[in-house]
Amino acid sequence: MSNDTLNTVFLDAATAGETRPEPSDEKRIIIRTVNLRKTYLKGGIETHALRGVNCEIYTGEFIAIMGPSGSGKTTLFNMVGGLDSPSSGRVFIDEVDVAQLTAIELAFLRCRKIGYIFQQFNMIQYMTALENVTAPMAFAGVSPDESRVRGMQLLDLVGLKDRWFHRPIEMSGGQQQRVAIARSMANLPTILLCDEPTGNLDLKTGREILEILCRLNKERGVTIICSTHDTRMLDLCDRLIWIRDGQIERVARRDEVTIEVSTINNETEA
Ligand code: ADP
Ligand code: MG
Repeated sequence: MSNDTLNTVFLDAATAGETRPEPSDEKRIIIRTVNLRKTYLKGGIETHALRGVNCEIYTGEFIAIMGPSGSGKTTLFNMVGGLDSPSSGRVFIDEVDVAQLTAIELAFLRCRKIGYIFQQFNMIQYMTALENVTAPMAFAGVSPDESRVRGMQLLDLVGLKDRWFHRPIEMSGGQQQRVAIARSMANLPTILLCDEPTGNLDLKTGREILEILCRLNKERGVTIICSTHDTRMLDLCDRLIWIRDGQIERVARRDEVTIEVSTINNETEA
């Protein structure tokens, strides 16, 4: 994993006419939610998973979302990522109201602008690491040859140069999550949504995963939103958002909370 590798991946994308995240000093709002609500109805029971979430996230930020199980973190990701629609309220990506997009525009947003990483890795079991990484490129119209080169570069980027042809069952959890990061970057998104990416990993492996995400954020300006119970996030993120019972309880910059680590640790154990 080197800067050269990172540069090659993104330069190749630029040559191919792709848009790519540019590190920039200029901060603008990339994600905004306005009074976001989501109510699930199951078996006649209503669950108010989100109860009026207002937040603004700026380009290039690394945001940690902290909150106990059931507080609404995954629901918030699903709304922001356009995987599900809110019961009411609005999500703006680059100041475009996601609800106003046509089906094709929404598919473009999900495919090209936003990458996803999940706690369970969500690999396709019968595909090799390389095939898992290149699968989303086919949806974006990237040629097979280009996909293969870019897929290999992305696997190299996450430290898996020697695992191109391994299947998920032949890899550790940490390796699978590295493949998942490479896959999330397949179409060079500007936003990465990471839903408890270290939840299934031991401390050391989790830390390595967070450091890869941190590099993508710092070196390439990818905006990262990462939910976690994990206080190891503290020294990597720019801001923390605490969510509880479907509402934002608190937003703070990292430097405002580092002295409170032990308190946070107790509060966020789920
Ligand atoms: P978190 O990711 O913070 O653990 P979730 O967003 O998954 O929380 O869940 C928030 C609440 O919404 C929980 O009470 C959960 O049981 C409920 N919930 C989530 N998804 C569904 C669903 N598809 N149908 C019904 N209830 C759901
Ligand atoms: Mg969740």
